[in-house]
Amino acid sequence: MKGLYWVRNDLRLQDNLSLNAFLEECQEGLIVWCPTKSNSRAGMHRQEFLEDSLFHFNSSLKLLGQHLHIAENNAAVEFEKIVRQFSIEKIYFSSLSSQEEKSEEEKVIKICLSYNIDYFSSDQETLINERDLPFELENMPYIFSDFRKKVELNLKIHAPLSLTIKRNLPLQQFNYVSKFKVHPGLIFHGGEDAALRRVHYYFGESMAIHTYKETRNGMLNSNDSSRLSPWLSLGILSPKTIIHELRLFESDHGANESTYWLLFELLWRDYLKFFSRKFKKQIFLEDGIKRGKHYISEKNQQLFSQWSLGKTPEVFINANMNELNHTGWMSNRGRQNVASYFVHQLKLPWIWGAAYFETQLIDYDCDLNWGNWLYLSGNGSDPRSRIFNIKRQAEVYDKESLYQKKWAP
Ligand SMILES: Cc1cc2nc3c(=O)[nH]c(=O)nc-3n(C[C@H](O)[C@H](O)[C@H](O)COP(=O)(O)OP(=O)(O)OC[C@H]3O[C@@H](n4cnc5c(N)ncnc54)[C@H](O)[C@@H]3O)c2cc1C
Repeated sequence: MKGLYWVRNDLRLQDNLSLNAFLEECQEGLIVWCPTKSNSRAGMHRQEFLEDSLFHFNSSLKLLGQHLHIAENNAAVEFEKIVRQFSIEKIYFSSLSSQEEKSEEEKVIKICLSYNIDYFSSDQETLINERDLPFELENMPYIFSDFRKKVELNLKIHAPLSLTIKRNLPLQQFNYVSKFKVHPGLIFHGGEDAALRRVHYYFGESMAIHTYKETRNGMLNSNDSSRLSPWLSLGILSPKTIIHELRLFESDHGANESTYWLLFELLWRDYLKFFSRKFKKQIFLEDGIKRGKHYISEKNQQLFSQWSLGKTPEVFINANMNELNHTGWMSNRGRQNVASYFVHQLKLPWIWGAAYFETQLIDYDCDLNWGNWLYLSGNGSDPRSRIFNIKRQAEVYDKESLYQKKWAP
């Protein structure tokens, strides 16, 4: 069989059902990554992390005698050519939750249908598979805690899949040129090795996971939280692998509230992914899933520039924006605060803030970013108000102002 593997947010060899199927079924093939609309909106930090991740994924593929091809056009345009040129018989890919990605998928499926070729798609983005949810997506509980309680009643997390083919495959290489860029100076490196090193360090060597619940709101130290999100966002690491490693750690060192809390946060991730599948384009609308806006906003460019450049009257907000602009990273506590300030204090349209985060965050994830912004705006599913007292937050979470001093503009 001649196959085409469409690389999406699944830049990994381990726990990758679609890649496994491709390697098992095909004797000849092509592995291709295509830029998406969201990639064209990426700023420097996000772009560099992606390029580094593609470079490392290609290095992993080389161990299997494979090569990653980087296309110039989007998948639909590119595959129309490839399918004809190379007489492809089957396309393999992972399906994603967000709307632009879904519509890409539909275009690729259309190509398959029009050329009468087969396709294999797997649902492997979340911790819990959609088919294992104890309800249909349309009946998904509206509020996170209701979702979590229902899901936890009979928690079904499959073990991660190991790569079954470890030998070099005689897959034919097509003459399709790729260029890779390496970025040695990054704060996070792409690649499964780097991701797993972080997991083992955070769980094992440092044992920081044992105090995660107490430290997760910290902003200054790299072990305050797991910092696994950059790898999760590109699918370099699967959530099932994280839970598998967590269980191994728990069996050696014991479970506690902190180890549970990491699962809790990954359930938040699942909730927002299913929320995005359910509400589709509505998560990008200013009035979200509620009828009518539940806050007043004004399109004030000057206030927006001050916020994005970290030049507001609030030192705490500025420090967080400064860290984001310099590194592409911001802690969860920081994100909650700058977003709440943006919406409720500056009264700017929340979709502007979400779009800015999309350009800057190295761990940008469409469903998590837009879902969290929508939630904070009050037009999502939040039953409570998310208006933070910024000065009080700074006192609680940065008592000695060390974070604010470090990231002072
Ligand atoms: C306005 C706003 C925008 C956000 N945008 C993104 C984004 O684009 N990409 C992204 O990965 N996260 C986003 N988050 C969620 C959260 O801030 C990050 O996942 C977290 O800070 C990443 O750090 P960590 O891996 O150390 O998290 P940890 O605290 O170690 O949590 C482990 C994992 O749980 C998940 N998680 C944690 N908090 C949340 C949350 N609030 N919602 C959903 N899942 C969560 C993430 O996958 C995270 O990697 C956003 C939050 C807010 C408030």
